[in-house]
Amino acid sequence: MLRAAARTPNLELRTDNPLIHLLDLTLEQLQQALVEQDVPKYRAAQIRKWIFEKRAASFDEMTDLPKGLRERLAGQFAIFTSTIAAHQVADDGTEKLLLQWPDQHRIECVLIREGTRRTICISTQVGCAMGCVFCASGLDGVARNLTTGEIIEQMLLLNRIQTAEERLSNIVVMGMGEPLANLDRLLPALEIASRSEGLGIGGRRITISTVGLPPAMDRLTAMHTNYSLAVSLHAPNDELRTQIVPVNKNITIASVIEAADRFFAENGRRLTFEYVLLGELNDRTEHARQLVELLRGRTAHLNVIPYNPVAGLPYRTPSRKAEERFLEILRDGGINVCVRARKGDQIDAACGQLRRSAPGGEMPLVELKV
Ligand code: SAH
Repeated sequence: MLRAAARTPNLELRTDNPLIHLLDLTLEQLQQALVEQDVPKYRAAQIRKWIFEKRAASFDEMTDLPKGLRERLAGQFAIFTSTIAAHQVADDGTEKLLLQWPDQHRIECVLIREGTRRTICISTQVGCAMGCVFCASGLDGVARNLTTGEIIEQMLLLNRIQTAEERLSNIVVMGMGEPLANLDRLLPALEIASRSEGLGIGGRRITISTVGLPPAMDRLTAMHTNYSLAVSLHAPNDELRTQIVPVNKNITIASVIEAADRFFAENGRRLTFEYVLLGELNDRTEHARQLVELLRGRTAHLNVIPYNPVAGLPYRTPSRKAEERFLEILRDGGINVCVRARKGDQIDAACGQLRRSAPGGEMPLVELKV
């Protein structure tokens, strides 16, 4: 909406860190930086192994590197640039980190434990410009894009809070921000996540969630990645969608669905449509019927997400009855529908909520068991 779009700051604003963010460099760039200092090239792979595989957080831990080199590197590069402003743990095992960058901006990322699955949910921007009316992330618009290094840093910090036996298995790009508005920074981060010398999370276990920006969706389609795409639909007709997802005004549902179809046709990767169910707004029987018409015949999943209320916003979780009625119509209409289980709602795990509820200013490291 306008409140978001009116603030168009410099999205490429750099964080104010004097050290180079190591995670911003590709392997080749790190090799080059080392070679320029007469350090053998193979050290780069060694350093990366420490960080990605052995979960190191400092050069000091890299015991197979000469001590002098470790000190030299620590004077030039930062492995992690954020501080953990809050760390919350829910009873269901979900953990959420609120990270603060050197420029004071904050973002959130989450580790979700389900059986043997370890899914991380990561952010791509500080805030969001899309303005979805029910969402906490976009309430103040967007401040800036995250860098590739900052996106990787979230993955690595979440990797580190696991026990030694646990391994990350899935990534969902469903945190703060619109991933397709920062694709250039996101793609290199996902590439390293999916490589065996990175985090080894295969592309098929990575899902990018988008509000639905057709030109960027087409760009992704043309890249022939094997990532899954989730499209946040939230309404079955343009009038309602524009009310809930204001960027829809100049896009329209038809063009979003056509772009999603093109993605599926080229990549054969599973398509998911997300539908946040908002009590008495998009949960009526007529909405369910229109949704059946819209999605019928498509190889797609529909994820219905009961709204997780955001303090200060007038939207509600639908009644049990409305939810059941809605789902029944979809199932009867042959739509492959599931309700996304609410994970970590005790810890403000929905997009952008922790950032709003945490006290501002200087924040100590908090271990909060809720
Ligand atoms: N910008 C992207 C990704 C971030 S949001 C997108 O729009 O898809 C990831 C998903 O969480 C979206 O479907 C979003 O609509 C949903 N979401 C955001 N706030 C929520 C809330 N309070 N309750 C339930 N779902 C929410």
